[in-house]
Amino acid sequence: MKLRNIVMASAILLTTACNSDKQNNAPETNTWSVDRFADIEVLRYEVPAFEQLNLQQKTLVYYLTEAALWGRDILWDQNCRYNLPIRHICESVYQHYQGDKNDPQWKAFEQYMKQIWFANGIHHHYSNAKFQPGFTQEWLEEQLNALPDNLGMGVAMIGFSYPGIEEAIFDSTVLHIKTNQADGVDLILTSANNYYGEGVTQKEVEDYYAKLKNPKDLTPVMFGLNSKLVKEDGKLVEKTYKVGGLYSAAIEKIVENLEKAAEYAENDQQKKVIDELVKYYRSGDLKDFDAYSIEWVKDLQSKVDFINGFIESYGDPLGLRGAWEGMVNFKDSANTARTEIISANAQWFEDHSPIDDRFRKPVVKGVTAKVITAAILAGDSYPSTPIGINLPNSNWIRAAHGSKSVSIDNITAAYDAAAAGNGFGEEFMWSDEEVQRAKQFAHYVDNIHTDLHECLGHGSGQLLPGVDPDALKAYGSTLEEARADIFALYYMADPKLVELGVMPNAEAYKAGYYQQMMNGLMTQLVRIVPGENLEEAHMRNRALIAYWTLDRAQKDGGTPALEFAKKDGKTYVRINDYDKLRQYFGELLGELQRIKSEGDFEAGRNLVETYGVKVDPELHAEVLARYKKLNIAPYKGFINPRYELVKDADGTIQDVKIIYGSETYPEQMLRYGREYGALDL
Ligand code: ZN
Repeated sequence: MKLRNIVMASAILLTTACNSDKQNNAPETNTWSVDRFADIEVLRYEVPAFEQLNLQQKTLVYYLTEAALWGRDILWDQNCRYNLPIRHICESVYQHYQGDKNDPQWKAFEQYMKQIWFANGIHHHYSNAKFQPGFTQEWLEEQLNALPDNLGMGVAMIGFSYPGIEEAIFDSTVLHIKTNQADGVDLILTSANNYYGEGVTQKEVEDYYAKLKNPKDLTPVMFGLNSKLVKEDGKLVEKTYKVGGLYSAAIEKIVENLEKAAEYAENDQQKKVIDELVKYYRSGDLKDFDAYSIEWVKDLQSKVDFINGFIESYGDPLGLRGAWEGMVNFKDSANTARTEIISANAQWFEDHSPIDDRFRKPVVKGVTAKVITAAILAGDSYPSTPIGINLPNSNWIRAAHGSKSVSIDNITAAYDAAAAGNGFGEEFMWSDEEVQRAKQFAHYVDNIHTDLHECLGHGSGQLLPGVDPDALKAYGSTLEEARADIFALYYMADPKLVELGVMPNAEAYKAGYYQQMMNGLMTQLVRIVPGENLEEAHMRNRALIAYWTLDRAQKDGGTPALEFAKKDGKTYVRINDYDKLRQYFGELLGELQRIKSEGDFEAGRNLVETYGVKVDPELHAEVLARYKKLNIAPYKGFINPRYELVKDADGTIQDVKIIYGSETYPEQMLRYGREYGALDL
């Protein structure tokens, strides 16, 4: 069963490019930035109001953060089977290097180390391409041989006894892409991730799950979510991630900490949630995961909440297997008021959506939304993190029980603070009008876009009876993100939002329209290297929307509502008619909903391949050159604060301390490897 087309959310905007022009009142020295290398900037974030939690809540947060951190190695291994041994080798060299730190070989090695830490493996977290080390194999071998004896033996043994490890690091022709989304090849055989065993083909995977699927089952589990599919004696077998199964050592530590956390649950429902999750980690039964998810959706009263498990399936080209992820958070009550207004009006938005009546939900169910403060980021949410999340991913659970949608305010606040005054808007926006509008409204409008996308967009519309929810196959994920985004864009300009007091005025949405078009047509290209296509679902979706709209505007004749324009030899995006633009968005929303509701694979593929994949090399080169001058990192991520239990003489917990700034990015990574290194190599 493919879940990409029904998989919700996570990482919707990854704000970097569009958040960069919001505030101009930042201090000269940027205290939010903790490291900078390659295309990455590492930031810190704050956890406002942690001190205001009571001791029970703080202790609960503490044990949940421990449970989150213990899953780290699982994700590393899921991303590629060489990741853990390579990390081990590289960290040993990194910690024991005695040579000249100005040596270009060392510099290149240091960058590689930081890159793989950030990506949780040897492939870029966003582009999926394998990192190319700037140091030589000879240099690395020399360093391994120079390691202290006791350590050197072990590391050297891994280095030389692990077949293929040197190729994994140095040979650019093997394992070159983590998650392959290219059209027309075997996506499983050509992907370097570790979700499938050696030699398993796409056809075999599809046949295997087609057989398990029962179209009459109204409450299907998410097949394949928590296992690796391998071939043993020519037969396919699922190796389940569970206590006593694959990744047992890490999962046992997660369970141990969840059980401690349960003792500090705020209420019975929350305790039930934790108990159900533990039960699932022990059984590995996906029915237990569904039971847990249902209880999790129902837990609306607790202040503290968390995600811990195999959740999003973007990393599997077939969208089946869940990457391990952890996040602990608590409710930001003041900011939640905004999302509550939007959720409370969900039915109005559904009723007024410009889609065919047959595709409309008669009753919109259980859209709950809140703004949260993240307390820890882990697994697939660390260091690169989403700013909005909507779970669970199970389609029938969403329909029957609803979902929880969150936006993470302390993370977006940190992005914005770090990006203030970087000159991005001045460089890429058509005129001062757009720049000023962005400064005034972009942060606000971005948050509303996230709310609309997450709280309403994904949950809107319905499939026609008998349509296979997986009909859009590998295009499902991109099309689903596009549908949620275009829903948000369409409504952002609706007077209803001003009437509800959600939008400050009837002009503010223009900041959002301009940024979305500029980003989709041009500036998101800063995230990919020359010659590459767009691969990632959210990038494809943004390009799809922007290029479809550009095309549509051209076809209308006269002055187009949206166009590329030149000034001083530079390319800009120009919006001439915002009302028209909104009309086009309405048309595209209608079409994307039709494709989903009817399961029209050909039309979906055509949209994605025509508008969402290809890159104009000339424009790309121009954007990269202009961007380079600004010296901004296109990707950002975060280090976590530390939490410490304060105990009295008899060991009773007195307080939980939150500590910022006690460690650098490498120090945190090395500590996590040391303290939470659960899995054998
Ligand atoms: Zn989404």
